Amino acid sequence: MSISPLMPVYPRCGVRPVEGDNCHLIDEDGTRYLDFASGIAVNLLGHSHPRLIDAIQEQAAKLMHVSNLYGSPQGEALAQKLVDKTFADTVFFTNSGAEAVECAIKTARAYHQHEARNPERTELITFTSAFHGRTMATISASNQEKMHKGFLPLLGGFHYAEFDDLEAAKALVTDKTAGFLVEPIQGEGGIRPASQEFISGLRALCDEHDLMLVFDEVQCGVARTGKLYAYEHYGVEPDIMASAKGIGGGFPLGACLATEKAARGMGFGAHGSTYGGNPLGMAAGMAVMETVANDAFLGDVTQKGERLRSRLEQFIGNYPDLFDFVRGKGLMLGIRMKGESRPFFVHLRDNHQLLTVAAGDQTLRILPPLVADDAEFDEFFQKLSAGAESYDPAMAA
Ligand SMILES: *Cc1c(COP(=O)(O)O)cnc(C)c1O
Repeated sequence: MSISPLMPVYPRCGVRPVEGDNCHLIDEDGTRYLDFASGIAVNLLGHSHPRLIDAIQEQAAKLMHVSNLYGSPQGEALAQKLVDKTFADTVFFTNSGAEAVECAIKTARAYHQHEARNPERTELITFTSAFHGRTMATISASNQEKMHKGFLPLLGGFHYAEFDDLEAAKALVTDKTAGFLVEPIQGEGGIRPASQEFISGLRALCDEHDLMLVFDEVQCGVARTGKLYAYEHYGVEPDIMASAKGIGGGFPLGACLATEKAARGMGFGAHGSTYGGNPLGMAAGMAVMETVANDAFLGDVTQKGERLRSRLEQFIGNYPDLFDFVRGKGLMLGIRMKGESRPFFVHLRDNHQLLTVAAGDQTLRILPPLVADDAEFDEFFQKLSAGAESYDPAMAA
């Protein structure tokens, strides 16, 4: 038998963390890494936040799981919190981002099917370089062929327009269009914030044609950008939104949020999940929301994001052959490189014990825990400088 016990779908590296300590990960051989990847925008409170640990421990001792056939005081409380803090009127809880996007896709389709109002409107317009997850529906929603290979046929009903190109999106609207599915700030695609005109234009198209505007905020949501959700930067509200990653602070949790109008097709029996909304997940989600969903925390993220960004911009000026520019919002930052970002990301990880994330479009993702502060930023720049000094793109390539 030559296949590994863990299905070999990930090219796993030599870092094998066994413990977390705030913004650091500790490997099984004791090596400490500065974690500016945060499990890809998940561990927003770092790795050992007492409030999150206490909430999970207390709930685990009390009640971990019950069926969704029973009433859920824990689910009602977290849903109410999200409803109070966002555009949404109603929430479906999931265990992952892809499931949250699946629910969003179903909600958008069901909106038009409800009472057979617009039965022909089944198709969603999505965007190039998008990432929405790895289920059949969510890979079908992305134009990235590397995720499709080997898994055809795709789920039908998705059309891809160029990201951030309003005219291209408009040109694809037909009488079969149900809505748009878009990341306001693309994550895997390379920390690319959509323009104001694009997001406002999609909202206007949706209003004009009675379409659903669906935001995938799985990566950019939950305080990462200095707002609870990134749509607030645009002053544009979606009809439906997928949230996950940071929402559980490391506990597997996702949510599909919708307005009352958008959720009109999601009545009894329309959707379900055995684990979705379990008390343990709700406790984690509530601890995260109680920590981050307030002006003090969000303002702090904004300020730290500005400090980190201006230091990054200054820093990359010293290495014009290596780096191009910085983009992103809050503590969701990307350094666009002159060449591929992956070899540099590997160099930082293996030679300087600094964890970041490579992304599309030659971008290095900088996603620190939102609790990181100047001490961690200083350490980050020490490691990044040392990494840039010792890096030879020619040797990496
Ligand atoms: C990570 C991600 C997903 C998928 O989330 P999973 O929890 O891996 O299923 C979907 N959309 C975006 C924007 C993401 O970044």
